[in-house]
Amino acid sequence: MGDPSTTVPRLVGVSFADAAISAAPLAIPVRRVMDTHARCSRAHLRRFWLKIWPETFRDFGRAGIRLDTTDASGQIRRTAADRPVFTGLERGVLNLVLTDHIPMFWDRGRASAGVTTLWEGYHVCMIAMQYAHTNQVPWISTNTCTHELLHAILGDIFIGHPSWYQGGERELRTDWVATRLWLFPRAADLRGSARAYLARLKS
Ligand SMILES: [Zn+2]
Repeated sequence: MGDPSTTVPRLVGVSFADAAISAAPLAIPVRRVMDTHARCSRAHLRRFWLKIWPETFRDFGRAGIRLDTTDASGQIRRTAADRPVFTGLERGVLNLVLTDHIPMFWDRGRASAGVTTLWEGYHVCMIAMQYAHTNQVPWISTNTCTHELLHAILGDIFIGHPSWYQGGERELRTDWVATRLWLFPRAADLRGSARAYLARLKS
């Protein structure tokens, strides 16, 4: 049996340390890459920076997930075979590419507001500024940025071409989780998924 005068403070110290770790915000590195070829109106830019992004940042923050941002510029170009090629991306971070419309290779004429995919090993969420929106209707139409970041954090990004998860069960789950972040952030319980995603992002 140990000496209570040393054992008790040590145990108390451990429990305080555990509490501090579990309460610490989990940081996801997000690199916001502005597509310099994008033709975005001033109104769309204002809506994104003043409404959409702050809402995303707030919704994740209330669930204990901090989005650590850096900013860069880049471009989306096309090869002769019409496959998109990105510049300005970085590895080990979630690249949030801000552009005017999603390239046809992923969009297929649907005028999508966003898409999330792995491209040459880079983690990429693309946002079409002209179609992006804030939280609108619970369970059905949630913040475009939040929705796309969730496709990465919930692991859909590892599946393959976005058309494999769009329109199916994973799409419904993404809006369901986004709604929890929006309306019931403490119940969102996203930290486990975020921790697992971070491990894969850094590997
Ligand atoms: Zn989606």
